[in-house]
Amino acid sequence: MSSKDNIFTCTQCGFCCHGETTVSLDSSDQDRMISALRMERSEVSKKYWMITNSTVQMKTVHGHCIFYDEGCTVYTGRPWRCAQWPLVPALLHDPASFTAISASCPGINKTVSYDSFRRLLQAYLDKKKEEDSEI
Ligand code: SF4
Ligand code: SF4
Repeated sequence: MSSKDNIFTCTQCGFCCHGETTVSLDSSDQDRMISALRMERSEVSKKYWMITNSTVQMKTVHGHCIFYDEGCTVYTGRPWRCAQWPLVPALLHDPASFTAISASCPGINKTVSYDSFRRLLQAYLDKKKEEDSEI
């Protein structure tokens, strides 16, 4: 079992895709989403994005991200923040964030201590960084 599997397994509950706002998309996110949807930028922008000044976010409908439908319907083109969630680096040194995020995300393994969680998360993030640098 990998260090990630020991601390997190997504239950696909969809909680993190709900709310009246969504994460913002940087330019790489925008390009990845356009490519995954196989649509013109102008179409994607009109149909799926909410743009405020220079901030691009996904629209919400009925209190959830427009792409949520019993799961993420733009999975390969989802923003990096969605792909990272909930294993954010802040969890390494912020017990309050750990408490808040683990309370809202049923995928986090609640049976390991915070110290063990941090150790396993660090191992996972180190491995991921190494793999990303090889791409
Ligand atoms: S809240 Fe956690 S378990 Fe639920 S979909 Fe989001 S990441 Fe997965
Ligand atoms: S892009 Fe996918 S993972 Fe991200 S909030 Fe929307 S439905 Fe959820």
